[in-house]
Amino acid sequence: MSSIAEYADEQIRLATLAEYGVQSALADPGFDRLVQLAASIFGVPIALVSLVEAERQLFAASVGLDVCETSRDVSFCAYAMRGEDIMIVPDARADLRFRNNPLVTGSPFIRFYAGAPLRTANGQSLGTLCIIGHQPRESFSEHDRRNLRDLAALVLDKLELRRLEMARRASQFRFEKIAGTSPDVIICADDQGRTTFWNPAAEKLLGYRADEILGHSIDLIAPEEFTARLYQLAAAGESLTEGRTVEMTVRAANGTTIPVELSGSMWREDGRPSFGAILRDITERRQNEDRLFRLAHVDPLTELPNRTMLRERVEQALSDEMSACVMMVDLDGFKDVNDSLGHSGGDAVLINVARRLQACVRAGDTVARMGGDEFAILLPGLPDANSAGRIADSVIAAVSQLLTIDGQPVNIGASVGVAMFPGDGLTVRELLSSADLALYQAKAEGRHCRRFFSADLREAATLKRAYQGELARAFREQEFELYYQPQVRLSDGALVGAEALLRWNHPEKGLLGPGAFLPAIEAGLLAPQIGDWIIRTACQQAALWRGPSTTDFRMGINLFGAQFRAGDLADKVMEALDEFNLPPTALELEITENIILRHDEHMLRPLRKLHELGVGIAFDDYGTGYASLSMLKRYPLSRLKIDQTFVRAMLDSPPDAAIVRAILYLGHSFGLEVIAEGVETEEQATRLRKKGCGTAQGFLFGRPMPADEFTRRFVLGDSLASSLGQ
Ligand code: C2E
Ligand code: CA
Ligand code: CA
Repeated sequence: MSSIAEYADEQIRLATLAEYGVQSALADPGFDRLVQLAASIFGVPIALVSLVEAERQLFAASVGLDVCETSRDVSFCAYAMRGEDIMIVPDARADLRFRNNPLVTGSPFIRFYAGAPLRTANGQSLGTLCIIGHQPRESFSEHDRRNLRDLAALVLDKLELRRLEMARRASQFRFEKIAGTSPDVIICADDQGRTTFWNPAAEKLLGYRADEILGHSIDLIAPEEFTARLYQLAAAGESLTEGRTVEMTVRAANGTTIPVELSGSMWREDGRPSFGAILRDITERRQNEDRLFRLAHVDPLTELPNRTMLRERVEQALSDEMSACVMMVDLDGFKDVNDSLGHSGGDAVLINVARRLQACVRAGDTVARMGGDEFAILLPGLPDANSAGRIADSVIAAVSQLLTIDGQPVNIGASVGVAMFPGDGLTVRELLSSADLALYQAKAEGRHCRRFFSADLREAATLKRAYQGELARAFREQEFELYYQPQVRLSDGALVGAEALLRWNHPEKGLLGPGAFLPAIEAGLLAPQIGDWIIRTACQQAALWRGPSTTDFRMGINLFGAQFRAGDLADKVMEALDEFNLPPTALELEITENIILRHDEHMLRPLRKLHELGVGIAFDDYGTGYASLSMLKRYPLSRLKIDQTFVRAMLDSPPDAAIVRAILYLGHSFGLEVIAEGVETEEQATRLRKKGCGTAQGFLFGRPMPADEFTRRFVLGDSLASSLGQ
């Protein structure tokens, strides 16, 4: 080699040559026929297809020679292949280049040589087709040349076929290697849907051995789907489908179906489409997806759809149907059941209720558990309120039927809120919130009933919500104030205590009484906080007023229902007593029948505890409600407060006078003190005193007033009076 460029060229030529697979066995009858043809056409004893490698020339085919290679140094062909056209050596012995060549001086004693270069389409010369004679030959006509060139072209064609075959075999080999170890199923089919390739993973997943299925229809594993897929592939063309996957099921030899993900490809072999498919078993993935779907959409206890799934179904119904109905169902009395039967008893009740609800609805309706003891029912396509009302009634009746859990009878009821689409809401959100509001209404109106949504419910709710922000601000800005109303001993008019009453110094509306804002506090989230503040403020005030002469002074505090729900009432009260150094007897908590009826057993615990410590518990507005006699026994009470309506009316109305007498009698029999509220006149005070009422509260003795006024009028005056020895 004389230069780097030549060296590089030669490397490229050798690489090209390697693609033709000369190193491997060359026995190819096609070449043999061509060299025989050449020898006979030209009447020579020797004809060769010589491929020139780095160090040697190899004879791909030969006649008249019994060696199959020679060293490249001595090769005529190494010269001939470099030329553009045929190289002719008429007489080797007369040619300076060759006359000492061992192939000339010795076997095979070359005299005449003609070699046509075998040049590939990209210009690389692989070797030659050459003919060799033992006699010199003077003439090699144009006709001869053409013949030799044509033969060389035939040889080249054959070499080309061989190269393609080599490449195909190499990629087939690579493909089979990869496919053999792939964990994915790889299957190929021809354009008739016959299986042409089947890897070990396919054997494993589908249960057919390759030799059982090759050549058979791919329909065996996927009757319609697969063939449909093939046609689809063929129609769409490779580029459209490559890289995309579809999910389908295939059938294994034992008949089981397996979900798979398929990515398909299409190519052409000999002008006809072939198909390949990679299948991945997605059984496990499907199972995980199912599990996740269930977790996200099904309530594990009752196996009912959960809130999420209900929303999805409502969404669906709103887009599919002209009408629909949504009901919210809340259990009445479930908390008591949960408390008395324990968790597992509560669970059993919920499961039972779920079944009862399902029995009330039509096929295609949805019963869902929204959480806790709240359920929802979706009735798609239900057009009229009458049928909705009937179904709601049947729900209430079904839930109210007696139920036995662990041999114990359990009594629960249901309240139902009903909203109709499209009248009560056009979106899922609106419709569900309408049903919710109707449910609240049903609960507020005494439970065990159903209520339909109406527009004023939403209006009231919106107002209440708007009010909450205003209340929070007022609390933050300290616009709330406690007023105090004196309580006196009727025998001598001495001050014995005060009731703390809430006021709001509204920046625009002026002083507001509780009637204007108390319901909003009770309905909102602020009640426990404001309640705490009232307890602390009133205790602080009581500590200031309990002077040396007023050691029996008692402060009355009204409670919100929410203060019981928080569960820390007893702690809060004791903390306040502690902080202001007050004995428990300095405090009286006032509770109404409303609070008692709503909370039942829950509230008893803290009240009992406080009562045992000596904190007074007064039953406020006594006589107005339905409080039974047995209640007075069950509750830890120390005082009854006769409601002002009876006091006001007792002078003119014998029945009211009788009630006042009865309450006084009850108090004495149960060992409870009694205080009369709303005493406005001397006559009322006298009559009450005569009937044996010990204490009273009312405008006659003083209206509710700010603390400093109370101090001036009752505490200073009192201590002044006692200091004067009166
Ligand atoms: P209540 O506990 O029955 O309070 C007594 C109500 O009767 C007070 O109304 C008081 O001003 C009024 N009153 C007292 N003496 C007379 C009288 O001689 N004649 C007439 N006509 N009325 C009299 P107020 O202050 O408007 O409170 C109304 C209700 O608001 C209270 O009824 C109580 O249930 C509730 N409340 C007031 N303050 C609080 C509080 O701090 N916390 C809680 N939870 N509720 C409170
Ligand atoms: Ca009260
Ligand atoms: Ca009262």
